[in-house]
Amino acid sequence: MAEILGRLLTDLGERSAYDAASQCSRCGYCEQACPTYVATGREAQSPRGRNQIVRLMLEGKLDDPAAAQEALSTCLLCGACTTACYAKVPTPDIVLEGRRALRPRTHWLVRAVGRLQVRSPRGFARLLKLGYRLKRLGLSRAARPLLRALGLSTLAEMDEHVETVPTRTFDDEHARARPPEGKNWLYFAPCGPRYLFPRVAAATWAVLERLKGPGRFLENHCCGLLAHNYGDLENARELARRNIETAENSGGEPVVADCSSCAAFLKTYPQLFLKPGDAGWLARAVRFSARVRDSVEVYDAAVGELPLGTQPGAAAWHDSCRALNGEGLKDAPRRVLRAVAGAHCREMPGADQCCGGAGAFAFVHPELSDELLRKKISGAAAAQARHVVTSSTSCLIQLARGLRKYYPDAEVMHISEYVAGALGVRRGS
Ligand code: SF4
Ligand code: SF4
Repeated sequence: MAEILGRLLTDLGERSAYDAASQCSRCGYCEQACPTYVATGREAQSPRGRNQIVRLMLEGKLDDPAAAQEALSTCLLCGACTTACYAKVPTPDIVLEGRRALRPRTHWLVRAVGRLQVRSPRGFARLLKLGYRLKRLGLSRAARPLLRALGLSTLAEMDEHVETVPTRTFDDEHARARPPEGKNWLYFAPCGPRYLFPRVAAATWAVLERLKGPGRFLENHCCGLLAHNYGDLENARELARRNIETAENSGGEPVVADCSSCAAFLKTYPQLFLKPGDAGWLARAVRFSARVRDSVEVYDAAVGELPLGTQPGAAAWHDSCRALNGEGLKDAPRRVLRAVAGAHCREMPGADQCCGGAGAFAFVHPELSDELLRKKISGAAAAQARHVVTSSTSCLIQLARGLRKYYPDAEVMHISEYVAGALGVRRGS
């Protein structure tokens, strides 16, 4: 059995995973907020059903592990249930505990890449660039059937979902640009903006410079969210320790991240250190988390300084689940968008519903993901949006694909790109 956390930080304080799951009174109040329940109508794919499965599992009464595996693996971890729940039952964390307890072994290649990311970030970046080169040559497309035959269909799906890859990473761009350094903020480069969307990282940097003065690159490691969500607590903790240490050695400035999934996870680092003997790291994680800011929060705090943009066409906000349900950022991004888009700002139907990206969910459950994506894009079309603006990497990937497929009149943008356009600032790629 894989390692489990055992204890969870909930809105009602620290609880054992069993107590947290038992807090679910099965009232069903959250059911209509759950995208997978609404899509499938299956109790096992509802928050109530999933909490019950984990409870039975922890009581040793689970009689169908395969059905439990399916119910838990199809959870988007979007947190819409917790937002809707009067008792704030932390269903996503409970689901993750259940997944860890059930976890079948991951493919050896995925484990090896995960280890490489922890032990040699440079080696990981080199491997990624090699993959990008193969993709540009069209070879990854040709390799998809082989990947599927080798049990790596997630990689094949990933290749299918991501249309273009950059020639340079944020680190490459940063080394070339060598911007003036200051002590106003530390940029935490999440893996998405760092490796796949360096244009987003460049826009964030330019906006932060304009709004807050010069800052510095934290030279961080991956936040550990993927390792955490896919059962590798050891790697997640190791990455957390390294990031905490790096930030401690870099001064006391706010740590700004421009992927809401990553920012939300950085804010939950304390949950990784609840075991007896981890008290020292827990205190350090609490201090670190208090320094973390989502880029959305920084722009919102400076909303009075944002000029009206000149982007033609309506702009609509898409809530990243982690921003909305993880960080409670509902009004902040809308204030920013209203300031910049002015009369062009629209609210799209279903803006707060998961787009089906959800980290690697879209690659693991492509059909269910596509159903959620179609709904999301129909909301963008109903609002006649030309720009769908958001703040998480997996939303950028998923919405880009959905708009290409179902509503090519609109494009997806990260909020940093939208704000940078209004401010007329640009750096790097
Ligand atoms: S998670 Fe909360 S809202 Fe949903 S069934 Fe349980 S107690 Fe009710
Ligand atoms: S996290 Fe999302 S998908 Fe999972 S049970 Fe809650 S609402 Fe449903």
